[in-house]
Amino acid sequence: MAIHKLSKAFYTNLHVEWPCPACGQLTLQIKQETLHDADTYESRKIWEEEWSQPDMLSGVFCCMAECYRPQCREVVVCSGTSGNEEDWDDTGLQYYRVYTPVNFVPPLNPFKIYEKCPAEISEPLVASFSVYLAQPGSAANLIRITVERLLTAIGVPELNDKGNRIFLHQRIEKHLPGNYSGYARQLMAIKFLGNAGSHTYDEVKISDIEDAFEIMEYVVNDIFSERKESIEVLTKRLHDRFGKKE
Ligand SMILES: [Zn+2]
Repeated sequence: MAIHKLSKAFYTNLHVEWPCPACGQLTLQIKQETLHDADTYESRKIWEEEWSQPDMLSGVFCCMAECYRPQCREVVVCSGTSGNEEDWDDTGLQYYRVYTPVNFVPPLNPFKIYEKCPAEISEPLVASFSVYLAQPGSAANLIRITVERLLTAIGVPELNDKGNRIFLHQRIEKHLPGNYSGYARQLMAIKFLGNAGSHTYDEVKISDIEDAFEIMEYVVNDIFSERKESIEVLTKRLHDRFGKKE
């Protein structure tokens, strides 16, 4: 299933396809009267110059959206950056205002996590949902934590015979149980992304995280819905390891 790309910009017609955080449907609508948009200080200075063009300007915006399902009516605040895009039509060069979301409160879910997925795995993944538009590198680390915990759940050892931590690369390459070997390539891709997120500040892009979400949607939901092992077995391993007390 395709994920919802929350990074997608919207225009003055305010058409968006945002998943409602309460009911999961694509039913959020921006309330026109709540949209506030203003150019930054730097843009206002540029605009005073003779050589300035509308596409050199940038601003900030905020707005509220509401789920239009009568039984839901969830509300969400969105803030982000605005700017002007140029395009040609029959009458010549035109500029369009464009709004790029950076933050949602409450956070929106790019995909639905299967409800039986244990909290130890879903929590870092959900945390990555709320930061990825603003800090994709931080989201990469959270996704990597999710993968480490997922491997623990499916029985991949964390420590070697000497009691030292096994690196994620080796956990995936050497210790993945046979019935999960089909996920090795996807998990390794996430590992590389996690490395990039840990070692550099600006290497990971929002689009990389959205690619990673596609993989996580497939792997996490496949494992917890296909029931390669019972949910109880998977969950017990995590509880034993992370010691979540009831
Ligand atoms: Zn709703």
